[in-house]
Amino acid sequence: SSHNLFSALRAAFPSDLDATAVQTDEGLHYSWRDLDRATAMMANLLQSLDLPEGSRVAVQVEKSVEAMMLYLATLRAGYVFLPLNTAYQSAEIAYFIGNAEPAVVVCSGANFGWVSKIAFKAGTQHVFTLNDDRTGSWLDRAAHHSDQHQAAPRQADDLAAILYTSGTTGRSKGAMLTHGNMLSNALTLQDYWGWKRGDVLIHALPIFHVHGLFVAIHGALINGSKMIWMAKFDPKRAIGYMAEATVFMGVPTLYVRMLAEPTLNKAAVKNMRLFIAGSAPLLIETFAEWQARTGHTILERYGMSETAMLTSNPYSADKRYAKQSERRGGTVGFPLPGVSLRVRGDDGQDLPVGEIGGIQVKGPNVFKGYWRMPEKTAEEFTADGFFKTGDVGKVDERGYVTIVGRSKDLIISGGYNVYPAEIEGYINEMKGVAESAVVGVPHPDFGEVGVAVVIAKPGAALRPEAIIAELKAKLANFKIPKKCFVVAELPRNTMGKVQKNVLRTEFQNAMN
Ligand code: ATP
Ligand code: MG
Repeated sequence: SSHNLFSALRAAFPSDLDATAVQTDEGLHYSWRDLDRATAMMANLLQSLDLPEGSRVAVQVEKSVEAMMLYLATLRAGYVFLPLNTAYQSAEIAYFIGNAEPAVVVCSGANFGWVSKIAFKAGTQHVFTLNDDRTGSWLDRAAHHSDQHQAAPRQADDLAAILYTSGTTGRSKGAMLTHGNMLSNALTLQDYWGWKRGDVLIHALPIFHVHGLFVAIHGALINGSKMIWMAKFDPKRAIGYMAEATVFMGVPTLYVRMLAEPTLNKAAVKNMRLFIAGSAPLLIETFAEWQARTGHTILERYGMSETAMLTSNPYSADKRYAKQSERRGGTVGFPLPGVSLRVRGDDGQDLPVGEIGGIQVKGPNVFKGYWRMPEKTAEEFTADGFFKTGDVGKVDERGYVTIVGRSKDLIISGGYNVYPAEIEGYINEMKGVAESAVVGVPHPDFGEVGVAVVIAKPGAALRPEAIIAELKAKLANFKIPKKCFVVAELPRNTMGKVQKNVLRTEFQNAMN
């Protein structure tokens, strides 16, 4: 039998195909039938191109319902979807297209000139345009095709997408995900997060990343749930939609932005069932403030491009963990059902409860490997098949997982390990501090030392020496950042992740 992910999503469509599947912020309504017919036409268009098996369809377009349809159509036709961040410019697009050698490239009309040049040079045969106002050659061509299409048979192990990682720690790598990876994760989350009939999702995230593309879209579709589609996140409008929605997913910065709106209160969220956060650490302060303002406890989860979702705080009592149902701020919860997670030391030994080490995972959701990087892939898997996430963390006696940072951000100072998240936690608690980032910079004696980069709350005046003095009163000397800088903002990528590599470069000479 076929394991095409599209077929599983299609089978979950409600029986009333005329009901609304997607409602946009422009007031458009797309029915389930619209999704079915349009993806059939697009899949037929793809098939008419006679592409070799396993061809990549690379897409860099603004967020639109049609762009989501293009994703679903690629699955349906059995090709490999490759989304690209809309922020990428020519050097980045040249790298991704050169690396992935897509047979088809779809870009916005405004970028057609330079993107098509890059694509044709890389051997791509077909370049289409797709704009966020329902125009473009992709739609013109699809309109000539039949609205009936039998999904291409695919095995669970067949490639469905290549998702380039966010490039937070270095050059992006293409994570090869299969139909089986994504379906298993979607079904696990549907159950674990208690999705039910009548749920409505506010889709506020970009769709070139695992969070918006897989967690959000698969989550709604596999449950036959309507989406309220925001082409761009706007805190006021998102709060407004909560009256008719039940589930919201966001990166931490979206929550921070909504908290700044006076319209956010208990009445505004009374129809909501669940708020989910992930992709970057949620500050405990945001977690607590959200609870106080809305009465809702944000459910934080953890995942990555290579694995989709790995851990989650419980939605309701988890039988596997003594029926604990508490969503604990500062943690990312329990390994999801089906995911094995362990914490290993530098020598590969299993670590006792509570000790910090490298997080390794195994499960049906874990990817096949990095696209055209067999050595890198081999390096990142252990002999017994666990994937080394590159994240550093611990598991407490109750089973909750905490991420303390990334192994690449770890500071080794005079031979001691310093975990930036620990120091940041102390700084963030100080009066007048909005947030902070601690990064390692070269030091002539210690090899590396920490430097603290701190953002003040509006109106607060911070003194760097006072911050360091306060840390000295609380922490061992080797952990104390040797310098502190108060700056206006932290460099972040589009997913709201702090770019510590940018900070390291910026402050690399701080100790000379
Ligand atoms: P690259 O691998 O190219 O450096 P990236 O790791 O940021 O980029 P993604 O796959 O988008 O690319 O992000 C996955 C990472 O995001 C995880 O490895 C983890 O470090 C971080 N992350 C995701 N969710 C959480 C969370 N809830 N708390 C802390 N970190 C998180
Ligand atoms: Mg990564």
